[in-house]
Amino acid sequence: MNSTDISLNAGPDAACEIPGQVDRQHSTEHRVAEISSLLSALEEAAEEKGLATQAPLPYDKQIAQHENHLAQVRLGIASSLHIALRHRHPQSASHSLRVALGCSSWAFYSKLEAPLRDTLELAGLLHDIGKIGVPDHVLLKPSRLTAEEELILAQHRDLGLEILSGCCSSAHLLNVVRYAHVRYDGKGSRLPASGKDIPLESRMLAIVDAFDSMTTDQVYRPARSRERALNELFEYAGKQFDLELVKEFAQVISGQQDLLTEKVAGRWLQELATQQSALPWHLQSSFALASNLENFEERSPFEEKLIDSMHDGVLFVDSQAKILLWNQGAQRLTGVGGDAVLGRQFTPELLDLCNHGGKRLHGAACPVAQALVMSAQQRHRMQVKGRHGEHVAIDLHCIPVYSARGALLGATVLLQDAQPEVSLEEKCQSLHTKASKDPMTRLANRAEFDRMQAMFIDAHNQAKLPCSLIMIDIDHFKRINDTYGHQAGDEAIIQMAKLMKRLCREGDLVARYGGEEFAVLCADCNLVDAARRAEQIRRHLSETPHAMLGNRRLTASFGVAQLQSGDSPDTLLRRADRALLMAKEQGRNQVVQLGEGMSHKHASKKWWNFGRRRAEPIVEKKVTTAVPIDIAVEKLRGFVSDHQAKIVSTQDNCVELEISSEKVSIHHRQTDRMIPYRVELTFKEDHVERSNNLGMASGMYVRTCIQISIRPKRKQKHRKADMADRARLILQSLKSYLMAKEAHEEVEESLDTVPVTP
Ligand code: GH3
Ligand code: MG
Ligand code: MG
Repeated sequence: MNSTDISLNAGPDAACEIPGQVDRQHSTEHRVAEISSLLSALEEAAEEKGLATQAPLPYDKQIAQHENHLAQVRLGIASSLHIALRHRHPQSASHSLRVALGCSSWAFYSKLEAPLRDTLELAGLLHDIGKIGVPDHVLLKPSRLTAEEELILAQHRDLGLEILSGCCSSAHLLNVVRYAHVRYDGKGSRLPASGKDIPLESRMLAIVDAFDSMTTDQVYRPARSRERALNELFEYAGKQFDLELVKEFAQVISGQQDLLTEKVAGRWLQELATQQSALPWHLQSSFALASNLENFEERSPFEEKLIDSMHDGVLFVDSQAKILLWNQGAQRLTGVGGDAVLGRQFTPELLDLCNHGGKRLHGAACPVAQALVMSAQQRHRMQVKGRHGEHVAIDLHCIPVYSARGALLGATVLLQDAQPEVSLEEKCQSLHTKASKDPMTRLANRAEFDRMQAMFIDAHNQAKLPCSLIMIDIDHFKRINDTYGHQAGDEAIIQMAKLMKRLCREGDLVARYGGEEFAVLCADCNLVDAARRAEQIRRHLSETPHAMLGNRRLTASFGVAQLQSGDSPDTLLRRADRALLMAKEQGRNQVVQLGEGMSHKHASKKWWNFGRRRAEPIVEKKVTTAVPIDIAVEKLRGFVSDHQAKIVSTQDNCVELEISSEKVSIHHRQTDRMIPYRVELTFKEDHVERSNNLGMASGMYVRTCIQISIRPKRKQKHRKADMADRARLILQSLKSYLMAKEAHEEVEESLDTVPVTP
């Protein structure tokens, strides 16, 4: 025990260090008065129950008898422990009873809940039970103990726990007794707990115990007055005792003690006698308990193999957190070998344990200590010093272990390497972000939109809710770039993204579909509402001046479609895209809705208009490539990506692309106005017979025929010749990507390669 502690021993308290004047007379008088009042309360209660003694006994015997009786009602079958203690050391037995009654009064005063109060009372009665096992020359020594004798006396705590764990089925009660000797600041204790981590009952018990020791005559020093004892408690508050509890206790003992004593005695004698069955006692031989831990080393070869081949670190600790087992996995993870730690106490410092945020843990914050104190599983993501010296993430899982009868034996501790998981989680997160977000606007990107659209549609179909799609394209954006520069253009796109995020609801998906195009999936929203919302965005945009565009306002065109029965993601998208195209065709800066919700007359008129304005193809060619269709499509993919072409639609074997002629021609002038082109490609696979005079083995070969049609996106009145040139350039480029040839080129080639016959 720390030399500055107030000794909690009621016996030969050689270790009590409290100096100062003794107010013996006062204290002894008070104690006699207290015991008399308790006795009369007991006698009255005993008379009521017909327990009064026949012939009067000597005064001290009467006290002993009543005290034993009280202990019996409170302890039930375990009262023999108290009687044994009384035989060994009557002072300790009386002290224990006074402590229990003091605890009980406190519980009354503070209106503690019944389970807490019961544990407190039982722990009070039993906290010194280990003194039964202290040798006479120490226990009964009539003078101060030597340092060596103090050590022998101090063993009564472990002895007490051993005795109790043989008969007590409540791990919590055992813990309360175990921690009753731990200082509030945790100093000088083998047990890893301090402050509020020490069970409340233990902290209360420590105060009542010390108070009773101080206010009782000891063999080597007389009792202190209650006031002095209280002062001592306050002096040690925060260090040895919980200050808040000391204050509360001061109120308890300055209150109406007689009334409390009466209430306590009444409850003990009247209520408790009927509650024996609820007491936490069982019969268990101490041999069985001891063998629980001793035998654990005799594991079967199977268990041994399993534990040592586990990748995770496995530790066993006893109830004092002493390490009993440390497997290979723990060594691999921490670099600390079993030899270095077996038999030592598990403390956070052993592995430089830090919380998930990297903050070092100490003492009571140790999850192993917490599991043992609270008798509850602990699971935390933490860091330990790894075998290479750096901290590594682990999942620490500590599970208390009990004997078959419920006594706490210790805990198993699992250290799972969380490093791969952490880095995998991080990698997945960053991969997911990269794969799903547009870096410039932080909106969902096209790939994410495609993924989400299918799920979105499924969910709405299942819930039978309407949903709609708005496609948006900023008007004349090329001009914005040309006038204000690409950077200002970027900024305008970012502002547009912010506006849409602001105006869309939770549950909607806003995506950057491509360059200056956006898509909004509107959850639980029909066509009319979606068109209204599109109109709202359009209006906001057209009214917002942009500083980087010289306070110019941007406009955009909107195409809206609602999901209809039988729609696929693709058909919904195409309908919204067509509506957007119509908005462009009709003069831009407007919303066009297509599909359900639109009057038939209105729709057909627009469609008719739209059809009429569609430009005629400038180039129509059939080409062939000597590869199967899937390879041809793969080659087209290269073209699309290199030329930043947009896939407008795909159906069966037909693909429609949109491409700016600027991406193909390298000869355009600054003043050129670039025209977007639509390119339709229809693929068809067929087989041809070849003789071996073409540098190939003879036989059947697969090839793909592609019908290509190129037209300007919109009808153009001027620059027809220029347009035709550019369309031919697109064809040329397509042919080289597809390694395709027109029919006449194939003939020429075959003539070139006919081998010369000798
Ligand atoms: P329309 O009204 O017909 O949509 O005309 P437009 O000029 O907006 O249409 P077009 O599709 O011909 O041109 C889109 C332009 O958007 C072409 C491209 O240079 C520009 N653009 C695409 N992505 C970005 C980007 O990320 N930043 C900037 N600054 N410009 C972009
Ligand atoms: Mg566009
Ligand atoms: Mg545009």
